[in-house]
Amino acid sequence: MKVKLARDLLKANDVLAGGLRDRLGELGLLAVNLIGSPGSGKTTLLERTIGGLGARRVAVVEGDVATTLDAQRIERTGAAVVQVNTDGACHLDANMVTDAVTDLALEGVDYLFIENVGNLVCPAAWDLGEDLKVVVSSVAEGDEKPAKYPRVFREAQACVLNKTDLIPHVEFDAQRFTTEVRRLNPEAEVFLLSAREGSGIDKWLTWLETRLAAKRATR
Ligand code: MG
Ligand code: ZN
Repeated sequence: MKVKLARDLLKANDVLAGGLRDRLGELGLLAVNLIGSPGSGKTTLLERTIGGLGARRVAVVEGDVATTLDAQRIERTGAAVVQVNTDGACHLDANMVTDAVTDLALEGVDYLFIENVGNLVCPAAWDLGEDLKVVVSSVAEGDEKPAKYPRVFREAQACVLNKTDLIPHVEFDAQRFTTEVRRLNPEAEVFLLSAREGSGIDKWLTWLETRLAAKRATR
């Protein structure tokens, strides 16, 4: 019996992701892989981000186990979107994204956001050819998420703590959360915001613009 090791699959994925990264790099767009639990507010963050980026051209790959509900929401913003249904798989891989972007006209696009399947575990291990991994967590999930799922917080370039408008109504210690994120990953940017209400969104948008400019400056 031949056993396919997860390690081999990951290696094959990394090769594909490298090719995708080169292609996206030639296009001069910034590719952002959004990772977070179901219900952390990834899609709402995207809606708010697309609105806030104004004249920027945005394309989105929406990863979900099933349905096109999130892609429909993105479509209403006017951004180009393609839905990937993983048919049960709990993460996106580079093959799915490579396939998905063939359906998007990426010439002239500034940002490609990839909304991963809602899951804090394995998306951390799968390179999608992105420039940045961003972990999205919400105050409704509790402040122990960084401690319990350290890998994704270690690998991300930024952490968005979403739904801060709910802090008065939930048991959440923002200090404990941010201290743990900084302990795991001192380099990571941490944004406290409410995608629903819009508070704190400006710093996040400014950071994205800075990263896009930095990427384009190195071309
Ligand atoms: Mg979503
Ligand atoms: Zn998975």
